[in-house]
Amino acid sequence: MAESINRQILFASHPEGEPRPENFQYAETPVPEPGPGELLLRNKYLSLDPYMRGRMSTAKSYAKGFELGRPLGGGTVSEVVASNNSKFAPGDLVQAMGGWQDFALSSGEGLMKIDPTIAPVTTALGVLGMPGMTAYTGLASIGQPKPGETLVVAAAAGPVGSTVGQIAKIKGCRVVGIAAANKLGFLKDELGFDMALDRRSPSLKDELREACPNGIDVYFENVGGAVWDAVMPLLNDFARIPVCGLIAHYNDTQVPPGPDRLPQLMRMTLTKRLRIQGFIVWDFREQLPDFLRDVGAWLREGKIKYREDIVEGLEKAPEAFIGLLKGENFGKLIVKIAD
Ligand code: NDP
Repeated sequence: MAESINRQILFASHPEGEPRPENFQYAETPVPEPGPGELLLRNKYLSLDPYMRGRMSTAKSYAKGFELGRPLGGGTVSEVVASNNSKFAPGDLVQAMGGWQDFALSSGEGLMKIDPTIAPVTTALGVLGMPGMTAYTGLASIGQPKPGETLVVAAAAGPVGSTVGQIAKIKGCRVVGIAAANKLGFLKDELGFDMALDRRSPSLKDELREACPNGIDVYFENVGGAVWDAVMPLLNDFARIPVCGLIAHYNDTQVPPGPDRLPQLMRMTLTKRLRIQGFIVWDFREQLPDFLRDVGAWLREGKIKYREDIVEGLEKAPEAFIGLLKGENFGKLIVKIAD
């Protein structure tokens, strides 16, 4: 029998600092009917990503915030269950923005068909999806790694950091990954990083200096905070710093305590001729075919590995998302909504 209830997780209130369970609300609504030209999607897997914390904030940013009382947005692997659009047929698997719910309507715009014979479908949310594309484009366009250079990346076991580090290895760099202590073996033994350091170590600055005897040429910035403090003194002349994310600060409610280090950073930017550039993955959307070709080939050849952390059940999404911002995920965080 066709399902009649659409379970949803609604955005209930704006978090102050760390998101809490009460910022989310479970709801059940009828499954919507597709109108002319529309599709009905059955969400199978939901991607949970750090950027969602920004969308829960009232601060102005590059994208519109989530609407209170509405399901939270998010990337999904979804199946077309009904279609009034000639480009899609029932049974098609697509990458969509289906959100935190069982079913979603779509006009078809922005949907990408997924071929399940190429790789497990969940990779469309990770290594072969938005996070993998972030790593590939930010590294190539801003980081520009060269053989023999040293690259440092934190959140190194996640989908962005692990892909950055592995591409840098392919490009001939020395790669130092920084992550939680329980993930360091994975970075060295599975991904082949040269060094792996615990981001919470009280002696991180000294350990990083030892791990980078020739300084740092590319720092792929995913986190900010204590890692950036350790990296800054080690940057070489003409170092490149793609600023991809600052997860250590996403829950900040005030400016971190002083001293004000901005003058020091500006001076260093000048004297070392640093290139610090922020980017959002879709700034490089024209590189999508190159990304799929190169990362697809590296995956097939076993040169790039990936890890997923799959949580079962839509109702677990809030708890899993809260954990993501604390580093409780180990690999690309995905919620399995349906078989
Ligand atoms: P991950 O799956 O790696 O999850 C985030 C990880 O960040 C956690 O697992 C944790 O890993 C680490 N972390 C959490 N809190 C802190 C902290 N206080 N200090 C240092 N590390 C912390 O996420 P993604 O790979 O999806 O994303 C990585 C970064 O890339 C994020 O900052 C994200 O916002 C950004 N991003 C940017 C995009 C863009 O277009 N610019 C697009 C996609 C992602 P651990 O505990 O192991 O250190």
